Amino acid sequence: MFTLFYGALITPKSLTEYTAAPQALVCVSKVSGVIEWIELDVPSSAFEDTLAKHGLVDLQDHEVVDLKHGEFLMPGFIDTHLHPCQVPNAGSGQEHELLDWLKHYTFPLEARYKDGSFAKRVYTEVVRRIVNAGTTTCCYFGSLHEEANRILAELVHAAGQRAFVGKCNMDREAPAFYVEPSPDASLHSTLSLISYIRGLTPDPSSALVQPVLTPRFAIACTPDLLSKLSALALSDPSLTIQTHVSENHSEIEYTKVLFKDVLPPPPHGETRGALTYAGVYDAYNLLRENTVLAHAVHLEEEEIELIHRRKAGVSHCPTSNFNLRSGCPKIGVLLDKGIKVGLGTDVSGGFSLSMLTAIQHASVASKLVTLHHGALPGHTPAADGFASKQLSIPTLLYLATQGGADVCNIGARVGSLVPGKAFDALVVRLHSDAGNPGIWGADLDKELCITRGDVKESEAEVRKHELEGLLERFLFCGDERNIKRVYVQGRFIGGTEFQA
Ligand SMILES: [Zn+2]
Repeated sequence: MFTLFYGALITPKSLTEYTAAPQALVCVSKVSGVIEWIELDVPSSAFEDTLAKHGLVDLQDHEVVDLKHGEFLMPGFIDTHLHPCQVPNAGSGQEHELLDWLKHYTFPLEARYKDGSFAKRVYTEVVRRIVNAGTTTCCYFGSLHEEANRILAELVHAAGQRAFVGKCNMDREAPAFYVEPSPDASLHSTLSLISYIRGLTPDPSSALVQPVLTPRFAIACTPDLLSKLSALALSDPSLTIQTHVSENHSEIEYTKVLFKDVLPPPPHGETRGALTYAGVYDAYNLLRENTVLAHAVHLEEEEIELIHRRKAGVSHCPTSNFNLRSGCPKIGVLLDKGIKVGLGTDVSGGFSLSMLTAIQHASVASKLVTLHHGALPGHTPAADGFASKQLSIPTLLYLATQGGADVCNIGARVGSLVPGKAFDALVVRLHSDAGNPGIWGADLDKELCITRGDVKESEAEVRKHELEGLLERFLFCGDERNIKRVYVQGRFIGGTEFQA
């Protein structure tokens, strides 16, 4: 039993290249949700022969999804950093920088998730919206409440989204109404949530929802709590970790003040240089291959080396970085270093839960860096490197999909549409009747004979360029109205055509 998708396909190949195939045929197992095979160039005249080559003669037991002109398949988005408990605040509090914004807007709202019925009402809405926005994998940075995070994990599990759900750990530097009573209490509810989430799916190897260790940030965690999280991380290497790093100058300075005299020695017998923010996490064994570090705006040279050495990944959250005036990270420098980078919406530091907004702002942020490329001391941009250059369309596509999967350490399972990977995908539709007035539909191009290629091109080249143009238009002008279907592990779970 297979689902066969026939039509245009886009998928990343590397940071600098993607495949745009106008006439692809994709075969997905209905049982496993895995991509069985893909043929990239199947003219309609070769459709049946191609199926026969793969042993498919009778299509009765299979489903064929025919993509129309102006529609294409692409991998789903991977949002590597989002606070679901802050979604009701999106678009509020933008007069503040980070620490004041936490105090005046974020902590009071997050405290309300102590009430399970409030959490259920909000999270039901949040998960549905995020799925329909095309996010097939999401790193959820929850509130500190165990029950609210159980509810979130249940809702995500029921929706069929791939996700990491974490209860944040924070036992200081927060108001009395929103702080954990002790390191032991924090650890206890963390362990309880981890085992609850792992129990949602009988076979953990097929689990879509996984727990994630979630220390809020170094400032909000006592050394005692970090020591306990360190022991937990060491005892459970498969446990993903997410936290914030180097977002804002005041935050970095205060982190250094708090940990100046109390930091344990670095792991692996290494000697420490100057105290750095990332070095704090490293001292507590929280920097590793499955660590997601949100922001990384003002990293020092030693931190870049350290993050690279530990193979940790960075979640670039440009909307939030602009909105809270945190700064403009030098993503090209990290990419040149070989550090894994994905994108995050960081709602509600960021005001949009659409990864398309994150893509647009990642592009703008990289253009700002380009304008100020003289401000990158010590970095001579290599001709084939990324530093001091704007991020290209292939790079933006990669960061929002495969890059995010790599940051979450699930890049071998999702992030691109290739045989053997799970079918986590979107059917995108760029037509003028989608209801999005911001995008010019492919149907209007056709009606008005608007072409964007070179007249001397072959028909195949014209179609390829048209598809590349549709992708760029979607990334910069699209929204959820252009996302017709959302699939996770082969299951149709969202989009404008979805009915619960
Ligand atoms: Zn955040």
